[in-house]
Amino acid sequence: MTAAPAPAESSGKLNLLGLDRKAMEAFCAGRGEKPFRAVQMLQWIHQRGIGDFEQMTNLSKAFRATLLQDCEIRPPHIVHEQVSSDGTCKWVLQTDEQNRVETVFIPEESRGTLCVSSQVGCALECSFCSTARQGFNRNLSAAEIIGQLWVAQRELGIGAVTNVVLMGMGEPLLNFNNVVAAINLMLDDNAHGLSKRRVTLSTSGIVPALDKLAEVSDVSLAVSLHAPTDELRDELVPINQKYPIRELMAACKRYIGQDARRKVTIEYVMLDGINDTPVHARQLVRVLNTVRSKVNLIPFNPFPGSDYRCSSRDTIQRFSEILQKGGLVTTTRKTRGDDIDAACGQLVGKVKDRTQRTTRLAAAN
Ligand code: SAH
Repeated sequence: MTAAPAPAESSGKLNLLGLDRKAMEAFCAGRGEKPFRAVQMLQWIHQRGIGDFEQMTNLSKAFRATLLQDCEIRPPHIVHEQVSSDGTCKWVLQTDEQNRVETVFIPEESRGTLCVSSQVGCALECSFCSTARQGFNRNLSAAEIIGQLWVAQRELGIGAVTNVVLMGMGEPLLNFNNVVAAINLMLDDNAHGLSKRRVTLSTSGIVPALDKLAEVSDVSLAVSLHAPTDELRDELVPINQKYPIRELMAACKRYIGQDARRKVTIEYVMLDGINDTPVHARQLVRVLNTVRSKVNLIPFNPFPGSDYRCSSRDTIQRFSEILQKGGLVTTTRKTRGDDIDAACGQLVGKVKDRTQRTTRLAAAN
């Protein structure tokens, strides 16, 4: 696909793509329209993928005319598409003149998973993640987040995306309101209607925001743990210095509450010689033995300039066996899309860094 010119950052029109039901109802009320109009609009926009107000034929002509005048449905613009040999598809989206984010679609036999970004870059500095190297520019708007699902649906057909994981660029809990609005649209029966089991938010562990999330949503939760001790996690996932493992695990328990069917997915990247020994595995069993959880081991995906290596297949196998003997359901994530840099931790987009991160890294090299 050839790059089309970047869309203007703002056309001056109000983009209705990111409005969840409550916000859409408030918008309609402001224009003297009844709440059921909001439902009709959500159905047109999200269920049917319609971005043209003229086609929303059950809205009154007068209402449509005002929408045409000062509103729009503006999805992010695809500048580049790449398809991996395993069918994984990566889209580079231009969010404004300076920035690009990435979205990945992972087809499997019985489902299609869309991996969605929540921020341009990331403010956290996890040592093994390439997004972190890019620094941070800004939060994505609700329209830009749900817009990733909207364009995937447009490109692949309605129904192709059965699962969404907020595991792309950024830390979703540091963009709380916009992420929650987008999640509301993913779950709303009048919008995308995905079940809460099929929408997963992944976080590195922003404890207060996790408690806040529990009050407004019950999507599935994945936590990027990656180390069984604070000493090691402080190094790999520096936000641990603020919210250490014990507090994070307590927050996970509060999030899943009393419902015995709910579990937290624990993500654990396998780094050769760093966090992958039998001692680490036994420590991990102890950390997790009071939290209803399942473990997802992620083979480390290398990127230019990283010093880490992925643990060997045997090491991962041995690590997994210790966890399973310790009573933990454990799976190993299949690496997908690595030939097009679409695998976990390889999403970089294009970030106009506004932190000192990139400058500091350059000085250190
Ligand atoms: N900030 C959120 C969302 C990102 S999710 C979070 O930390 O959970 C992306 C997942 O891929 C996280 O579990 C992340 O730790 C993991 N990851 C990052 N870099 C990776 C790499 N190079 N190889 C494998 N997994 C990686």
